[in-house]
Amino acid sequence: MAERPPFLSVVIPIYNEEKTIPELTRRLGILQELLIANHSFKKDDLEVLFVNDGSKDDSCSALKKFCFRTNGYKLVNLSRNYGHQTAITAGIDMARGDAVVVMDGDLQDPPEFVSDLYTKLLEGYDVVYAKRKKRTGESWFKLLTAHVFYRILKKITRFDIPIDTGDFRIMSRRVTNVLCSMREQHRYIRGLISWIGFQQTGLEYEREERFEGVTKFSVGKMLKFALDGITSFSSAPLKLSSYLGFGTAFFGALYALYVIYLRIFTSETITGWSSMMIVVLILGGIQLLALGMIGEYLSRVNDESKNRPLYVIENVYQTSTKTSKPSKRKT
Ligand code: UDP
Ligand code: MG
Repeated sequence: MAERPPFLSVVIPIYNEEKTIPELTRRLGILQELLIANHSFKKDDLEVLFVNDGSKDDSCSALKKFCFRTNGYKLVNLSRNYGHQTAITAGIDMARGDAVVVMDGDLQDPPEFVSDLYTKLLEGYDVVYAKRKKRTGESWFKLLTAHVFYRILKKITRFDIPIDTGDFRIMSRRVTNVLCSMREQHRYIRGLISWIGFQQTGLEYEREERFEGVTKFSVGKMLKFALDGITSFSSAPLKLSSYLGFGTAFFGALYALYVIYLRIFTSETITGWSSMMIVVLILGGIQLLALGMIGEYLSRVNDESKNRPLYVIENVYQTSTKTSKPSKRKT
């Protein structure tokens, strides 16, 4: 008989979190006990998948050691840093659970809360996303940009992407299967999951401060992520550029009429250097903006057309892994 899949898989992306790992594994132990107490789990009903996203510190060896000696814990080691969303994808692809949780590894998402998410899922939902009640320890810049971004995204997409949620969520096997079949390069996973549909709901939690260190998301990475979110689910920017084009053409035509009127019916000479400059600058700006927007979409089409794998796995480490290197061939 084939082995029964675990009830629950927890996917945790890790990038330079060596100082957090001991506390993370301790808190995951608490989660396991909670699941045993609340949901009559057995020890091997929980599977934890750490995805090491090319960490430059000792995260990988710490996790390796931990996974070698602890049943149910796996380390999926990627060949380099691919970014948060791709790391999550690698973990979800490998997860075998009937339900799959995605959770950050910096303890901003409290592991114990997974038990509440699971309880809610059993009520008959397909996705339960954790909704931030309060965010402590984030800069005002991050809070403001996140606030504005989520609201813009909600306005310009046709389906519901929940506001103020990250990737911390639980999903059923059938949602996971659909998500695994979506192989696009520029991934905005929370959007993809919303797109899948079924019954989805939120559960509020308090987002804690990072246990240690600083965010691994620079302003540049955040901007790219926001652009991925928008371009994946909306072509509003492209439409905006055509509206801008229509608008400027319309006002241009009005202005042309005015110029013709001055020329024919008045003796005013048109000195107009400043008005000329303004028109040139504004039009130039709008044209570049429109080209830029087209470029953003085009570069994504280009990336998709290459059809590359999303990530490369160096190895998977778990209790049964005997050797971390390929064995030498006898010649
Ligand atoms: N992370 C990752 N790859 C990256 C950046 C981050 O796997 O390139 C992991 C990181 O270790 C953490 C999670 O993704 O577990 C969220 O990252 P972070 O806490 O820096 O993001 P924030 O909470 O500030 O949005
Ligand atoms: Mg964080």
